Amino acid sequence: MGLHMQVVIALLLGIKRNGHIFLGLLFGILIGCFFPSETYPNVYKILNFVGSAFINIIQMVVLPLVVSAIIIGISNIGDSKQLTKLGGKMILYYGIITVVAVTIAAIIAIVMHPGLSAKNLVHPEIISHIQGYVSDAINYQRENITQIFLDVIPKNPFNALAEGKMIPIIIFVTVFAIALSKAGDISRPLVSIFESIFAATMKITDWIMYLAAPGIFALSASAVSSFGFGVFHNISKYALAIVLALAIQFFIVYPLMLKIFSKVPVGKLYAAISEAIMVAFGTASSSATLPLTITCCEKRGISNRVCSFVLPLGATLNMDGTAIIQVISVLFLTQMYGIELTPLLVIEIALLAIVASSTSAGIPGAGMITIALILNGIGLTPEQLVVGFSLLFTIERFVDMLRTICNVTSDAVVAAIIADNENELKYDLLLGQTPKEEKA
Ligand code: ASP
Repeated sequence: MGLHMQVVIALLLGIKRNGHIFLGLLFGILIGCFFPSETYPNVYKILNFVGSAFINIIQMVVLPLVVSAIIIGISNIGDSKQLTKLGGKMILYYGIITVVAVTIAAIIAIVMHPGLSAKNLVHPEIISHIQGYVSDAINYQRENITQIFLDVIPKNPFNALAEGKMIPIIIFVTVFAIALSKAGDISRPLVSIFESIFAATMKITDWIMYLAAPGIFALSASAVSSFGFGVFHNISKYALAIVLALAIQFFIVYPLMLKIFSKVPVGKLYAAISEAIMVAFGTASSSATLPLTITCCEKRGISNRVCSFVLPLGATLNMDGTAIIQVISVLFLTQMYGIELTPLLVIEIALLAIVASSTSAGIPGAGMITIALILNGIGLTPEQLVVGFSLLFTIERFVDMLRTICNVTSDAVVAAIIADNENELKYDLLLGQTPKEEKA
């Protein structure tokens, strides 16, 4: 059976197992279609309130989870040789996935030419809604690349924690965890405390999942209600290019990576993480999905050592889905404004997308702000940016939901490959699809 068919069947099995979440998603999309926000603003407000409450509830556990997971992950790894080996593999696999992603995106955008004559499609009333986003993006663009790198160094880790800035937090916690693992026995009590924090946050995640169906229902309903499906005809080629590139990544690239670099059965892994995939779609946030990604992977046999190191870092740094939409969106704008695309410019855009995507936080919309890092190089005026973005933003929420599926799936794929390589995947749990707790 073809790898992509294994993925489809696995997803169907996953949907069957998590039928309540899938029904929530489906009903949400239907209700969103029937109650567009412009005609039913109050229905939209209620849906948006319930959806936002669900995201806040999940995000409540993200910080303690990331901090405790990285500390446990690194102290479990033990010596620095092991840490370098695991870290090296993680960077290698995340790197391969992202380079393949931007290559596919560039080829699709060049072949499909989604931006050609798109300029005529812009409705003047949409433009006014976009000004805010564009000014954010232009400000981001002004901070040059060295400043962006300086900003990720955590001057004050407590500030970074209070503001929820993930990259500085991860840098600090990683250094702190390495230091703890070097400190010997004296660090044991503190590591035990973080083990307790981790166990408690995982328990809370289990409880939160009881709210998944209504939460995902409200999120998908409010998203569809606010963008409506009518906008698609305006920008169908762009939407098609994005969907195609993300689908190739999801149905072909990840399964091939699993096949080439490990013996992990593709279908079993996709079935194992299907709950996380649905939550990623609903929340459009890799960070908010992280607790569930860890739960799905651990329960189906990927060791805690690998999960707690690879997944939190991946949820922040590995954004291949985001890189795909950034490349296609920027090429769309260059085509729309007739900017000549030399091979060098395409390579520059692809490389900048790798940097820009990994500096994006795992939250809704982040990739559309960091895209400014790439736009910096292609010389568009602010007016051109506003017009271009006003087209892209008509379907941004939908595109965000789709790219987040890729961002989350690729983290799990890399975790599974590394666990397989390191003999840290319990195949009985993965093959039997019996969660750890039920087995015990
Ligand atoms: N929403 C994406 C994520 O959380 C980030 C982005 O591309 O905006 O993974």
